[in-house]
Amino acid sequence: MSIIDAHIHYGDDDPLLLALLAEFDLSLFNICVVVEAPDSDVQAPWRDQAETYQALAQAHPQRFAWCTSFDLPRFDDPTYMDQAIAGLQRDFQAGALACKIWKNIGMDVKKPNGEFLMVDDALFDPIFECLITSGKPLLTHIAEPLACWQPLTEDNPHYGYYSKNPQWHMYGRTDFPSHEQLMAARDHVLEKHPKLRMIGAHLGSLEWDVDVVAARLERYPNFAVDISARLTDLVVQDSAKVREFFLKYQDRILFGTDVVMRQKPSTLNATDKAAAIEALRATYQSHFAYFETDQSLVIRGRTTRGLGLPPSVLEKFYRTNAQAWYPGL
Ligand SMILES: [Zn+2]
Repeated sequence: MSIIDAHIHYGDDDPLLLALLAEFDLSLFNICVVVEAPDSDVQAPWRDQAETYQALAQAHPQRFAWCTSFDLPRFDDPTYMDQAIAGLQRDFQAGALACKIWKNIGMDVKKPNGEFLMVDDALFDPIFECLITSGKPLLTHIAEPLACWQPLTEDNPHYGYYSKNPQWHMYGRTDFPSHEQLMAARDHVLEKHPKLRMIGAHLGSLEWDVDVVAARLERYPNFAVDISARLTDLVVQDSAKVREFFLKYQDRILFGTDVVMRQKPSTLNATDKAAAIEALRATYQSHFAYFETDQSLVIRGRTTRGLGLPPSVLEKFYRTNAQAWYPGL
C-alpha cells in the first residue's frame, strides 16, 4: 500500500533515502516552517526550505510534494500583505499544495500595541481568503501540547522537548496566552472562514484525549487533523478508545511523522548516513506496528496494544485522506 507522510521536514534526496521511500512506497509532504532563532539551529530560513522542497518535488514528483508559508507580519511595511499574497500565489504556481501557519502566531509575535498576534486577527483574513480562492488548505500548528502549560514531569510524552526548549514551556507564565485562548482563536478562524479547509497539525494540539479532538471534528466540518509527532500521545490512551476514534473519523485523520531532518544524509559519512536512514526506518516501523497490528507493543518505553486498523481505514489514513485534504497530492 503506498503511503503519504503528510507532515515532515526532510529536504534531501540521497539515494539511500530514496531507496527507503521506494521500499515502503512512501512519499513525503514537506512542510515549510517560518522559524526564527532559537529554533533556527534545526531548520533553515524558511525561503531556503521552500527552495529545497520545491526542487525535490520537481526532481521526484512521485516522492515529494510541499507546503509553503508566508513571512511573519511587518507592521511598519504597508506593502506586507500584497507581498505575502503574491508570494503565496507564486508558490502555488510553483507547485506548493498548501500553506502552513506556525505556533509563533499566538505565542511569540506581538502587535505594535504589545498584544500577542492571534491567528484569528483580521490581519490574516486576506491570506485565508486567498487560500479559499486558490483552493488550497491551511495547515495550522497553533498552540502546543497541553503539557506546555503544566508542570514538567518526566513521565509526560513531551518532557524531552520542553526540557530542551524551555523558551516554549509556558507553565507559570501568566504573560502568555493560555492553551484555551489559542484554541479559541483557531476555532474562530474556522467559524469566520467556513470555506477554508484546515488541517490541524499534531492532533490539532488536542493530543491528550481523542474525545476532545472528536468534539472539534464534530463542530467543524472543514477541519481535519494529522497525527504528526503525537504517536506517544495516542499510545498512552486506551487503545480500544483510540481505535474507535480512528474508525469513526476515518475520513478526517492524516498520517504524518513530523520528522525533522537534522543533517542532510547526503552530507554525512557512510556510517552516519546509514544510522540516520535506519533511525527513519525505525520511526516508520513503530508507527506501522501501532496502526496495523493488534499486538502488545512497546513504543518509546510505553507498553500498549496496536490498533489493528482494517485495510480500508489504513488506506484512507495513510494516503487518500491526505489526497482529499491536500488536493494535488
Ligand atoms: Zn512540523
